[in-house]
Amino acid sequence: MEHATPLFYSYKKRPQLDEHYDAIFIGSGLGSLCAASLLARNGKKVLICERHYTPGGYTHVFTRNDYEWDVGLHYVGDMDRKGSALRIIFEYITDKNLKWADMGEVYDRVVINGKVFDYVKGLNNWKERMKFYFPTADDARAIDKYVELLFAVNAAAKNFYMLKALPKLAQFFSSPFLSKAYQKFSSRTTKEILDSISDNDELKAVLSAQFGDYGMPPAQSSIVIHAAVALHYMNGGFYPIGGSEEIFNTIMPSVINAGGKTVISAEVKEIIVEGGKAIGVLMADGKKITSDIVVSGAGVHLTFEKLLNEENQKKIKFLKTLKKVEPSNAHFSLYIGLKQTAEELNLPKANYWIYPCGNNHDEAVEKYLNDYKQEFPVVYISFPSAKNPKFLEKYPGRSTIEIISVANYDWFKEWEGSRWKKRGEDYDAFKEEISQRLLAHLYKMEPQLEGKIDTYELSTPLSTKNFCNYQKGEIYGLSHDPQRFDADFLQPKTPIKNLFITGQDIVTVGIAGALMSGVLTASSILGKNIMNDIVQYAKQSGG
Ligand SMILES: Cc1cc2nc3c(=O)[nH]c(=O)nc-3n(C[C@H](O)[C@H](O)[C@H](O)COP(=O)(O)OP(=O)(O)OC[C@H]3O[C@@H](n4cnc5c(N)ncnc54)[C@H](O)[C@@H]3O)c2cc1C
Repeated sequence: MEHATPLFYSYKKRPQLDEHYDAIFIGSGLGSLCAASLLARNGKKVLICERHYTPGGYTHVFTRNDYEWDVGLHYVGDMDRKGSALRIIFEYITDKNLKWADMGEVYDRVVINGKVFDYVKGLNNWKERMKFYFPTADDARAIDKYVELLFAVNAAAKNFYMLKALPKLAQFFSSPFLSKAYQKFSSRTTKEILDSISDNDELKAVLSAQFGDYGMPPAQSSIVIHAAVALHYMNGGFYPIGGSEEIFNTIMPSVINAGGKTVISAEVKEIIVEGGKAIGVLMADGKKITSDIVVSGAGVHLTFEKLLNEENQKKIKFLKTLKKVEPSNAHFSLYIGLKQTAEELNLPKANYWIYPCGNNHDEAVEKYLNDYKQEFPVVYISFPSAKNPKFLEKYPGRSTIEIISVANYDWFKEWEGSRWKKRGEDYDAFKEEISQRLLAHLYKMEPQLEGKIDTYELSTPLSTKNFCNYQKGEIYGLSHDPQRFDADFLQPKTPIKNLFITGQDIVTVGIAGALMSGVLTASSILGKNIMNDIVQYAKQSGG
């Protein structure tokens, strides 16, 4: 798509900025982008300040050696289901300019101890396929019960999320009823629920095989996040045509049309609070920009513990409780480039979830986090160029692969003060060791790739900290344990007047979670349920 006006400006080049905006956003992740577009569609002029040198938060892409990789989007569910909230929100904020490619029948391929289990598109197909792998009457009953429970959990959670956008008084009156149904589930772990329906360890390992999508193994994660993720993908996986940067590219015009801007390399140092109200931001270079409203999409830990000064932190009564909500685990990501196309190399569209240690995900994660030399508890492999129908237009004759696994931030503490690309030989040697171990898993699954790799580069938790400002290199913001789902302060409104938060931390991780957070935050700011506007639009435009 050609754009007449630039979609973003570099703050370093001193772009023309207004003295005052209706709203300033900290961070250009999807939560911020969605809320910014919704405010813009309601006549608000916004400024989005992004610290990184490229916009989009985890939906940004980076290029190296004539290849391009996305960093935080491998697949999104629910994009072709009629009535899907996710689809109509995206259509609304992008004016239908963002298109999605279907990954086909198999979206996730689970490999446990070398045995393959495909997750196939469509609820009934998925159930049938699982019953084919697990044919006993007991297992079939457990699979039916499992799906039934997923729907019950999701229904309770949806109502609860909507509460977050309501004014305090309405929350007070609706809360006891809605919270009760939700808390019945949120305090329970995925393992507890799975154990309640089956004794078959292999079945339970397969059912929880997407735990990497939310970063916590079954005994630690709340069933709320497991149910959300499992049902989200049950109707297949989709990939943005043109790559994940198209998310920013297609949302931004609506912000620009209302006079708004995105500036990159624009770090916010502090949220300015005067008379108990947020009135703007102090940039890292000392410049002050004022606004009626400040919205932080930079993660709750960073927002409350770093972007507010000590005096204002004292006004945040839940700060102690927040400190107890742990960040999620960190990760490695290996970015691979090949000088042949996905078709020539026979690369699949499905993601691989490889479990080399067998059925006990919790044990494998614990062992490995204590000692990196242990086998990876999970190896996730994604083939972005195979999923993106437009990849070859930009990169003819090439293809890309990404491999992800878990990491422990503490392994990297010794290099904390070092600079990107200059962290020293030990660091590079550690990266190389991890890269080779990850590549060995790729070759096991796709032996035709051995000797074909043109380039690879490993990102570590320090890369995540450096580029996305997550202080512990956490992959998904807050961890998704029962404690997080009990934290009622994770909502758009904050105790500081005119300061709002958005992004994955107030709903859940994921493109869907971040998008919904944008809707909640904009609804909370504007004092109306924006979903009504979106549903109306969908009806009128045949969405
Ligand atoms: C490896 C990986 C794979 C993933 N795969 C998938 C997937 O396949 N499907 C899916 O649905 N989800 C996936 N996700 C999750 C998804 O990408 C995220 O949940 C979502 O994009 C988070 O959006 P957000 O709005 O919370 O903001 P973020 O994307 O977290 O962005 C926050 C932004 O704030 C900026 N910022 C921080 N501090 C400041 C400051 N002081 N000043 C200015 N800017 C600041 C950061 O630089 C960053 O750009 C993945 C994530 C990762 C890391």
